[in-house]
Amino acid sequence: MKIGVVGGGQLGRMMALAGTPLAMRLTFLDPAADACAAHVGDLVNAAYDDPAAIDALTDAVDLVTFEFESVPPETVERIAARLPVYPNAKALRIARDRWFEKSLFKDNAIPIAPVFPVDCQQDLEDGVQHIGLPAVVKTRTLGYDGKGQKRLMTAADVAGTFAELGSVPLILEGFIDFDYEVSCIGVRGRDGQTAFYPLIHNEHRQGVLYRSVVTEAHPLQQQAEDYVHKAMDALGYVGVLTFEFFVKEDQLIANEIAPRVHNSGHWTIEGAETSQFENHLRAIADMPLGSTHRLGHVAMYNIIGRMPDMNAVLSLPAVNLHSYAKSEKPGRKIGHITVHSTDQNRFNQACQQVEQMLVNELS
Ligand code: ATP
Ligand code: MG
Ligand code: MG
Repeated sequence: MKIGVVGGGQLGRMMALAGTPLAMRLTFLDPAADACAAHVGDLVNAAYDDPAAIDALTDAVDLVTFEFESVPPETVERIAARLPVYPNAKALRIARDRWFEKSLFKDNAIPIAPVFPVDCQQDLEDGVQHIGLPAVVKTRTLGYDGKGQKRLMTAADVAGTFAELGSVPLILEGFIDFDYEVSCIGVRGRDGQTAFYPLIHNEHRQGVLYRSVVTEAHPLQQQAEDYVHKAMDALGYVGVLTFEFFVKEDQLIANEIAPRVHNSGHWTIEGAETSQFENHLRAIADMPLGSTHRLGHVAMYNIIGRMPDMNAVLSLPAVNLHSYAKSEKPGRKIGHITVHSTDQNRFNQACQQVEQMLVNELS
């Protein structure tokens, strides 16, 4: 089967690697000539909204998916007019815009922080009156890794913020003093079958994911699955959907969804019976979904900016290293390390060793 993917970064790269044993060949649309997914698939090297390139992609494949959500809606429409697209245009339209996303949560009785739409500085002042401080203001579209956001602690932080964030539509959210953050990754097939991975405990540093640890029999597992299920049903979703939550006083508060495979799910490559990448491909290709069972204790560390000594990492037991073949650059995700073992001591020891080796700007 030939699958087209809009975006050609590391998520697409890991998708192509997962598709190879299933005889799937992936073609990526990406404006970067050195897109790292192109090492393991074919590349249509053009802007996401280039009509000729979109047609070249759709001519080459049987169906199309996405590895990021900030795709221009016109691109999605042009593809959808010619080929099946999973997830569908509605899911992308909602997931790429934080206001639509929060409305989806509200409509499905999924708890969220107070939110207020902001289209000018006056709206922001009104929103702060309404919600109070501290609060967080975010661009409605295009934000990732905490970019396009500002924390508002005092009235002085509010002044000039609309212009500072680019005079684009924003949302203001109440600040949640959460205990910790989790994500729930679900997958839904074309026939409506679903599967869910165990909850993942995510630790961010400077707005970027530093480490994910897979939880064991979390008391909020069923609640999280119910919320993801509701969102998937409401969207007529096909593929992997990731849901980020804050946990405060043993309650889930929805933060955002990603209509795609997710950084917090990279552990599934070695740490689950079927990876998120393979399950996404199975779902969109109308194949049976694979088991999401966790294989022992599992953690994932992002490699940000600088690669540690690869041979030193490779010499550790219970550890797998992934390099995305991307050049080093401050703040850039260039790889990750998975630690997994059925033995708790072996797992803890490997985690400590990995933490010492990481030369992350976040560590
Ligand atoms: P991602 O890379 O996960 O897509 P993003 O740029 O879309 O990130 P968010 O997930 O909305 O941004 O926010 C990034 C991080 O900032 C969150 O994981 C959380 O740690 C913190 N954060 C965001 N919103 C709030 C909030 N309302 N209250 C407290 N902390 C928040
Ligand atoms: Mg996001
Ligand atoms: Mg997030």
